[in-house]
Amino acid sequence: MEAAIFLPIFIIGVLTFAYLIKFMAVQESVFHSLTDEARVLSAEAGLNPLASPLFELKLKDRVYDENGNHISEVELAQFGYRFPFHGMEDMISMDLNYDVNIKLPVPFYKKLPVSESLLFRGFVGAEEQMDPLAFEEMEKEKKSNLVWIFPRAGGRYHSENCIYITSEPRQMTMSDQIRRKYEPCSICGSHDLSDGSLTYCFKTGESYHTGNCPIVDKYVISIEKEEAVKRGYTACSKCGGE
Ligand SMILES: [Zn+2]
Ligand SMILES: [Zn+2]
Repeated sequence: MEAAIFLPIFIIGVLTFAYLIKFMAVQESVFHSLTDEARVLSAEAGLNPLASPLFELKLKDRVYDENGNHISEVELAQFGYRFPFHGMEDMISMDLNYDVNIKLPVPFYKKLPVSESLLFRGFVGAEEQMDPLAFEEMEKEKKSNLVWIFPRAGGRYHSENCIYITSEPRQMTMSDQIRRKYEPCSICGSHDLSDGSLTYCFKTGESYHTGNCPIVDKYVISIEKEEAVKRGYTACSKCGGE
């Protein structure tokens, strides 16, 4: 009697366990391919300032090759190449989405969607003044304390709402979000800008611009206050930089 009840439960338990092990093995394998290819991309970033158009193809080929029909719907999203992030230049980011599709000898299974995100820094050589991003910083978002600076002029750092910076264009990274919020500029032809490239927007403006646009004379970027101080900026006397 007891065996009749517990045996099926036991079998389901074993199958579930087997499923989880297979699932984790596939996930591990895909994540390894992703980080391995990302490492190559990071090394290439120092030599090739353009986004590597072959990256997605290469990665897809590899993960399909290594995982056969255990995965499907592999796609790369949010690919950002060499953009500034929290005061660091040459950042690269991406999400890899795919479905794990493991068949077991039971009638109930379904594809499980998986999403992995990576944020890392392109290799920039020895000239860069900043320390490499530590592993913990990649793992979790640090509490950030952003200030605004004029990157080409040096001097003071400012708060978000300081009068000295609110009227200046801000350097941003081209994305769908910017396309939704702003129109392309008719003077500088900014509609040709691809995702991940630098663009310039005024806080209260309606257009996004290229760096060559005549109305983008100087511009501001946001960086960590800590980094601004390290680079020799001091607090603005008007806004205090807070
Ligand atoms: Zn200020
Ligand atoms: Zn413009």
